[in-house]
Amino acid sequence: MTSVPHKLHPTLQDMRPSATLAIQERCRVLEAEGRSVCRLGLGQSPFPVPERVVAALIAHAHEKDYLPVRGLPALRQAVAAHHRRTQGLQIEAEDVLIGPGSKELLFGLQLAYDAELILPAPSWVSYAPQARLLGRRVRWIPTDPEQGWRLQPEALAAAWPVGRGPGLLVLNSPNNPVGHSYDAEHLAAIAAVARERGLLVLSDEIYGALHHQGGHATIAAAYPEGTLISSGLSKWCGAGGWRLGTLAGPPQLRWLLDAMAVVASETYTSVSAPIQHAAVVAYTDHPDLRSYLHRSRLVLRALGGWAAGRLRGAGCRCPEPEGAFYLLCDLSPALGSAPISGARLCTSLLDELQIAVLPGSDFGLPPSDPVIRIALVDFDGAAALAAAHDGPIDEAFLRRHCGRVVEGIERLVGWLRAGG
Ligand code: PMP
Ligand code: GLU
Repeated sequence: MTSVPHKLHPTLQDMRPSATLAIQERCRVLEAEGRSVCRLGLGQSPFPVPERVVAALIAHAHEKDYLPVRGLPALRQAVAAHHRRTQGLQIEAEDVLIGPGSKELLFGLQLAYDAELILPAPSWVSYAPQARLLGRRVRWIPTDPEQGWRLQPEALAAAWPVGRGPGLLVLNSPNNPVGHSYDAEHLAAIAAVARERGLLVLSDEIYGALHHQGGHATIAAAYPEGTLISSGLSKWCGAGGWRLGTLAGPPQLRWLLDAMAVVASETYTSVSAPIQHAAVVAYTDHPDLRSYLHRSRLVLRALGGWAAGRLRGAGCRCPEPEGAFYLLCDLSPALGSAPISGARLCTSLLDELQIAVLPGSDFGLPPSDPVIRIALVDFDGAAALAAAHDGPIDEAFLRRHCGRVVEGIERLVGWLRAGG
């Protein structure tokens, strides 16, 4: 008898499961052992899927056929119309691709476009490992915490001289892990550098609708011919587990979507039919959806502002979040001279305080930096949304409806005050 040889593809040899999903698994194990963990590691929406979208999914449960590779035509129409209505972009249904999560679409894009990946540090956990899986190089561009960890156009220009060759810049606003966003002026300055160098920009706008003031700006407004926009249902619609993502661009980049459709046709075929039918309803303007989004933003804004304020009060460097549900927090001013890596810090926080968070190194920051990402999501979003109908969203509201997050932040602040 010959046993199956342990032969992995070389790129996979020292890769591990994605940090966001691994921390969630760790929380499950600890909870099974009877520990009470504040789950501030994986970033998933605390809010339920809006009722009318759930109703549409139920109504379409019988849909059983494979759908076209690029997506249900009515959904591609609805997504294009959504970009036109909310962003004033000239996007047509032919230039929309539907995929099983924007993560898979990003991977398909990196597979199809033969270029080096350009990432501001910090950036979301999966962009760089996807490049690695494909054997692509990554050019990390440092950012300054004093400038809210935002990519500066000068830094991009310096890192990527004109003529260096094809590059794919991923820009994520509102941002995971920092919670910041980019305004139109800043985006126009980055767009000018990208255009001069012929860079392809992937504008990751998965948190666009969760800009806390409803003020999301897109780089596609300044650089339409070179920008693809990724988004989906996972964050604003609370449907991460439904796995539906969108990619949209200008006619000039249709060749790239064509190539991605080839990849899709040989890999996942198409996204689940009932989910696509339900997504048509999610992308169709309705007062219920507007109210849902409005209340989601109010809760996230109040919670983000409160948590950042508490951490700054304890001596941390932590910019005020402007969108999404994350904080990036540099603990070095609070910890003083005792050097501790982000990863060790996270282990201590989990073991001693039962708070699950992720180290900045998972997002491309130096491992020695005591920086953590906090996902402000461990609360009952349905109850919070219902209560947001009728009252001020003040500290009392947060203590009542976002209790686990408040508890986690207070444990952390208490620990820092006691000397860490
Ligand atoms: N981009 C960012 C910045 C994210 O945080 C996530 C996390 N879900 C994704 C993309 C992927 O989202 P999905 O695959 O659920 O669309
Ligand atoms: N985007 C989420 C996060 O950053 C988790 C989902 C994922 O990584 O696929 O925590």
